[in-house]
Amino acid sequence: MKNISFPEPTVNPITKPFWDEVANHRFTIQQCEDCKEWIFYPRAHCPHCFGSNLAWKKASGKGYLKSWSIVHRAGHPAWQTKAPYVVGVVELEEGPSLLSHILVSSEELTYRMPLHVSYEQIGTYTLPFFKKQEAQS
Ligand SMILES: [Zn+2]
Repeated sequence: MKNISFPEPTVNPITKPFWDEVANHRFTIQQCEDCKEWIFYPRAHCPHCFGSNLAWKKASGKGYLKSWSIVHRAGHPAWQTKAPYVVGVVELEEGPSLLSHILVSSEELTYRMPLHVSYEQIGTYTLPFFKKQEAQS
């Protein structure tokens, strides 16, 4: 197969702070300064109180696996080189959920498995994937 590049994230003035932080291996999401709810994906207005007083804050990068799927046939030819791979919905400790790659073997996947963010270089971008959170000693 020819060298096909990976599709890039959509970066606009609202999402740019998120991607800039991820590129520096920092997991930062928005929090509403009025109602204190954490928000993901990045937005201009709080979906809880509709205020526009949103701040970017460092998040734990930890969460739990809510749901997952194993992809055998990728929706884009570049991703086919990684198949089969796992995508899942991660519920962050702060509350919001996001869809990401889950870097855990399919035999180990369990509902509510603790995960933590892992920064992976894919093409020209750093993307926030998730790995198994090892038990604290
Ligand atoms: Zn709010």
